[in-house]
Amino acid sequence: MGHVVRAGHAQNEEAGELMPTSWSEALDIIQANLCYCGGDKLPGHAFCRLDHNRLPELLKLELRGAVIGRGFEEAYDRALVVLETKAAARAAGAAGGV
Ligand SMILES: [Zn+2]
Repeated sequence: MGHVVRAGHAQNEEAGELMPTSWSEALDIIQANLCYCGGDKLPGHAFCRLDHNRLPELLKLELRGAVIGRGFEEAYDRALVVLETKAAARAAGAAGGV
């Protein structure tokens, strides 16, 4: 899997697990014009349009309504897990030559 540089998002390389997003990281993420995937996004949005469309409706609503320091970080982390799971599934499908 290629290494992706995330906007202000720390990753525990040894465990290969995502670290929980902190309050200050969440601020960086929301203000950035680059999505965690490297795609363009609008400041004020958590993800680019492509990633946003991949999220379940409930998570989209949660991210839209969440405020940093009041649930945004948790919703963002859950969204990241969903997106990474889907990305891994796509990568596995491509490698398997389906
Ligand atoms: Zn993206």
